[in-house]
Amino acid sequence: TTPSAYSYPLLVKNIFKNSLIRSPDQEIIYRDKMRYTYRDLHRRVGQLANALSELGVKQGDTVAVMDFDSHRYLECYFAIPMMGAVLHTVHIRLSPEQILYTINHAQDDVILVNSELLPLLEPIKDKIETVKKIILIQETDKAPETAIQFDDTYENMVTNAKKGYEFPDFDENAMATTFYTSGTTGNPKGVYFSHRQLVLHTFGLMTGLCAIDSQAVMTSKDVYMPLTPMFHVHAWGMPYLFTMLGNKQIYPGRYEPEMILKLVVGEKVTFSHCVPTIIHMLVNSPVADKVDLSQWKVVIGGSALPKGLCSAALKHKINLYSAYGMSETCPLLTIAHIKPHMEEWNEDALIDIRCKTGMPIPLVDIEIIDPMGNPVPHDGVQTGEVVTRTPWLTQGYLHNQSKSEELWEGGWLHTGDVGHIDTEGYLKITDRLKDVIKTGGEWVSSLTLEDIISQHPAVSEAAAIGIPDEKWGERPIVLVVLKPDTPSQGLEEEMKAIFMDAFKKGEIPKYGVPDKVLFVDEIAKTGVGKLDKKVLRVQFAD
Ligand code: ADP
Repeated sequence: TTPSAYSYPLLVKNIFKNSLIRSPDQEIIYRDKMRYTYRDLHRRVGQLANALSELGVKQGDTVAVMDFDSHRYLECYFAIPMMGAVLHTVHIRLSPEQILYTINHAQDDVILVNSELLPLLEPIKDKIETVKKIILIQETDKAPETAIQFDDTYENMVTNAKKGYEFPDFDENAMATTFYTSGTTGNPKGVYFSHRQLVLHTFGLMTGLCAIDSQAVMTSKDVYMPLTPMFHVHAWGMPYLFTMLGNKQIYPGRYEPEMILKLVVGEKVTFSHCVPTIIHMLVNSPVADKVDLSQWKVVIGGSALPKGLCSAALKHKINLYSAYGMSETCPLLTIAHIKPHMEEWNEDALIDIRCKTGMPIPLVDIEIIDPMGNPVPHDGVQTGEVVTRTPWLTQGYLHNQSKSEELWEGGWLHTGDVGHIDTEGYLKITDRLKDVIKTGGEWVSSLTLEDIISQHPAVSEAAAIGIPDEKWGERPIVLVVLKPDTPSQGLEEEMKAIFMDAFKKGEIPKYGVPDKVLFVDEIAKTGVGKLDKKVLRVQFAD
């Protein structure tokens, strides 16, 4: 055989270029402030690369971005990796000290920072080690009051830069992006992804979202708006997908319910993704009753979708699906499609499916293993740790050998989640290893308890946690936020009775019936809007 000189590296530039041919006049919109076309996006991505080169950015350098979801962030998603540099999407909900840790740990060379986020940078500015240039992103003409010295502003730098940039070919395994997990214990951990991984993930997303089963979740007609922030796991990789396809895209800036609804309705958004908290906030906003949300498909992930919330959203005609992934997995692993033979099922049965964690998308292997590392049967009952393999998993944690080895023990990525797989092939996450309630040597799924109580009409939000117990080790309790103006009188007994019923129906074991249902005003959340069970366990320990 003749060796072939032919090689086509899976580089981010190769999923970008096509959109200019496909939809040069399609729009990309930022809040109610700015709209431009793919032609503009392509021109500005070249200009941004030229401007960064002028600043001294070379292949292998790291450029950090601190911004809200915007067209600028989208420009950075492409220009920075396409030059051969690494995009660090800074987790802006961490504390300034943690942000400092990530900037130094990633050895950032340049920071692009939104003026509204300067309060995060000011307290740490003197301790930043490797950064040579800081660029200000500002949306008004008024210069911010700050002691930080800037080398330029983003808009000035981009609009004045040379047009056209010859994006080079290089090894598809070169690092393209890096970002840090929340770091609820110890320092945040850095994950990283290559060009090849981003490209394959984009195609994985597309097959997962469009091409499987009869209910296509996404088509090229969809109008896309992210509602998981762009600093968090590439907004689930969706901006790469929708840009590749040349769809209309809306970037909402800082997440504000009124602005979000205004954009959803005004721009006719049909596709978004978010954590359950955001949908909870929207369906409980008075405006939601007045607008038509029936064209809106929302992929829910980041935490389990409680059945009560799913049915509330369906009442607003929002089409919800669960998906599953994590920072370490780029992120997408599964999506809860409805299989063709299920379409005629009744609403309750379909809610069950929508609230499962989903089926692995193509190129994703998922197994459930017991503590000895052996796979458990896919019977929808037996649980164990979820482990996975796909081409788009982080190779490890940045500069952290021991944690990387733990993550990849036995050649599979350990998710730290507990779940089971049923005979139809659907994964259901029942807990995180660290949140599972351990009582009398047995495990109780906190997510199942939340699911059960979320279906009571008075419940707005709920969290189940284990609290220390001398006899049993831990006992389950449930914290409930009631809907506005709902008196709690008599409700504790009523809710406990619901758990007893669930026990009688075999949904939970007897020892899973919570000892207490406590009514609270609010439930602690993490920086990305998930229930913060670590904080809750401390708060309600006694
Ligand atoms: P963090 O660790 O900061 O929460 P991640 O986004 O990486 O950040 O969180 C990933 C975790 O979120 C998963 O390991 C899992 O516990 C949870 N998760 C994500 N999607 C789902 C889902 N559909 N159902 C249940 N849990 C989910």
